[in-house]
Amino acid sequence: MKVTFYGTRGSMPVAHPDYVQFGGNTSCILIAFRTGRIAILDAGTGIWKLGNDLLKNSHEQYDNINIILSHTHWDHIQGFPFFKLGYDPRRNFTISICGKERTAKDLESIFASQMQNDFFPVALDKMGASFTFLQPDITTYIHPSGIKIIASKHSHSGDAYGYRIEEGGKTLVYCTDVEHKDGIDPKVVELSRNADLLIHDAQYTSDELKIKKGWGHSSWEQAIEVAEQAGVKKLALFHHDPEHNDTFLSNMEMECQKRFPDAFFAREDTEMNV
Ligand SMILES: [Zn+2]
Ligand SMILES: [Zn+2]
Repeated sequence: MKVTFYGTRGSMPVAHPDYVQFGGNTSCILIAFRTGRIAILDAGTGIWKLGNDLLKNSHEQYDNINIILSHTHWDHIQGFPFFKLGYDPRRNFTISICGKERTAKDLESIFASQMQNDFFPVALDKMGASFTFLQPDITTYIHPSGIKIIASKHSHSGDAYGYRIEEGGKTLVYCTDVEHKDGIDPKVVELSRNADLLIHDAQYTSDELKIKKGWGHSSWEQAIEVAEQAGVKKLALFHHDPEHNDTFLSNMEMECQKRFPDAFFAREDTEMNV
C-alpha cells in the first residue's frame, strides 16, 4: 500500500508561515492499494487537495470509493463539502464508520447537517455524486481482493474507532483521537500488533496532557509506548496540536527519535510505501 498524508493537524486547520513543514490541514489520508484502487481515511480539510490531485491525475475509480471515518468530530469531516469528486455524478462513495458498541448516531444526518443552508450553500443531496452511508456492526471485513480491515473502538469524547488495514502481508494501523485513560489501552496495542506503520495520535506533550485530561488525545510518549508494546516497525505521530508550530514539532520529533528511532511526525503532502 501507498499512504499519502493530506491532513495531519488536529482540532482546527492552521494557515501560517510557521506551519508549512508539517502542514495545517486537518486529518485526511489517502491509501492506494496494490490493485490500484484507493480508500480515504477521514475527511478533514486535507480532502480538498486530495480530491484536486485525483482529478489532476484523472483517477478513474467510479464504482466505489470508501471513505472510512475514525469518528465525526468536525476536524474529521469539515473538508467534505469541498471535495470536488463529491460533485461528479459519475462517482460513487461509501462513507462509513465500522465497529461495534456504537452509541447511536446517524452518519448521513451528521453529514447533511454540516451542509444545511445555515452553514453551507449546497445541500448534501445536491452535490451530485452517489453516497452510501454505512455503520456496520462488524469488527473484521475482508474484501474479495484480499484486503482485510479490523476496526476497534477506543476512548475519545463521543468515541472513535481505530483501523488495522492489511494487504499483501503489510499492515497499516490508523489510530487517532485516542485517550489512554488508566495506562496504555491494551486494545490499541492489540490492534497495532507488529504493524509496519502505526499512525497514532500525539497531540500533546506529557506536560500538556496533565492539564488536558478528558480532551480525548494522547501524548507522543504514549504513542511510543503503544509502538514499543506492539512491536511496531514505524510510527507516524499524528493529529498535531494547532498550538505546535514547525519548530516545536521538529524539536519534539528529535526527542521522540532518541527513544524510538523509527518515529516521525507526519508531514502533509508526503507519501510512503507500507
Ligand atoms: Zn480530531
Ligand atoms: Zn475527535
